[in-house]
Amino acid sequence: MLDYEVIIIGAGLAGLTAAIHLSQNSVSVLVLEKSPLPRHKVCGEYISNEVRPYFKSLGIDFGKEYPSISKFRLQTTSGRSTSCELPLGGFGISRYAIDNGLYVKSLENGVKFRFENVEDVVFNNNSFLVETKSGRFHSKYVLGCFGKRSTMDKKFNRPFIQRKSPWLGIKGHYYSKEFPHDLVALGTFKGGYGGLSMVEDNKVNFCYLVSYESFKEIGDIMGFNEKIVSKNPMLRAFLEHSELTEDFIKPISISQISFEKKRAVENHMLMCGDSAGLIHPLCGNGMAMAITSAKLASEILIAGLKGSIDRDNLEKTYSIKWKNEFSKRLAFGRNFQNLFLKPFLLESGLGILRTNQKLLPYLISKTHGKPMVV
Ligand SMILES: Cc1cc2nc3c(=O)[nH]c(=O)nc-3n(C[C@H](O)[C@H](O)[C@H](O)COP(=O)(O)OP(=O)(O)OC[C@H]3O[C@@H](n4cnc5c(N)ncnc54)[C@H](O)[C@@H]3O)c2cc1C
Repeated sequence: MLDYEVIIIGAGLAGLTAAIHLSQNSVSVLVLEKSPLPRHKVCGEYISNEVRPYFKSLGIDFGKEYPSISKFRLQTTSGRSTSCELPLGGFGISRYAIDNGLYVKSLENGVKFRFENVEDVVFNNNSFLVETKSGRFHSKYVLGCFGKRSTMDKKFNRPFIQRKSPWLGIKGHYYSKEFPHDLVALGTFKGGYGGLSMVEDNKVNFCYLVSYESFKEIGDIMGFNEKIVSKNPMLRAFLEHSELTEDFIKPISISQISFEKKRAVENHMLMCGDSAGLIHPLCGNGMAMAITSAKLASEILIAGLKGSIDRDNLEKTYSIKWKNEFSKRLAFGRNFQNLFLKPFLLESGLGILRTNQKLLPYLISKTHGKPMVV
């Protein structure tokens, strides 16, 4: 006897979007999430407009109170910079606000939530048994939406989890009188890069990715901001003329961020969002990818529940669709990040970008999808 048609592990963007999509199609859904919602998460919080048509079709409207972002600027430590209009543009919204909006919508749709860590998932007899400390739940399908790094990855011995990853992510919200509402600005520094963009309530998100090797030279966030990040003139000017908002006593951080390839189907679970693969943050497309993958997975699970596709084909089709949709963006992101972290190459690349005005928007478009078809 099944308790739910679908169990979703993880209530981030991927899990919550899938919960809304499935429940809107009369699928019974349980979401299991290990931490309370909503909460601040390390993320640049610039979200591509490609998700707007899909969100609209799900009845999700984040309205006009979120800044619309249409311009991009890149500056290196030498102070050289280039800018362009963003091909598709996006908007700035904190993870606190977007996760909360999706959570409320899921509850309205009748999705059930339990705030417990998932400890095991057993596939047997064409159905799943999902175990937490205090409960055992049966379902026909499971979506793995458990983010970049989870105990679930260890449980299933996923190859990327066996290796240490050298990346840290750091984020804070700041008040700054001078930062433009429509801009996402990227600045490089030794061993990393950081992005500035507005979110709601006149707050500016400053989020950066840095290698552990570079960070450990200083070892604490405030010292690193002062001594290394501030070597970039744009980032220095920002940090000098801004202050952390009341929500952040200090910036928050995450470690061991892995960009390695992952499988889109693991132990018969369809993987969505970062559990299936993380694009390099400088592309500003991870959230849109999480949402797009939730749509792909939801559509195919609905077909499975209707009996239009058997499990074997469902898993194969999802893997192929995932690859077709995301592998080129991921490859572009990987190449850009390699370029970004080599100052000499970046300076030469910047020269080329400055002489060819169409090149930068073209490259940005390669790391994004098209507006989502509904
Ligand atoms: C430094 C940095 C900057 C970024 N900037 C941007 C940006 O500007 N724009 C953009 O589009 N993307 C950006 N991204 C990427 C983006 O943040 C992610 O792609 C996005 O958060 C993916 O959402 P998700 O739902 O897959 O994962 P998450 O939002 O991480 O959700 C996963 C959830 O699973 C839960 N979970 C994990 N294990 C378990 C378990 N065993 N049991 C129950 N629950 C569990 C976690 O608690 C979590 O809530 C950035 C990423 C980084 C690292």
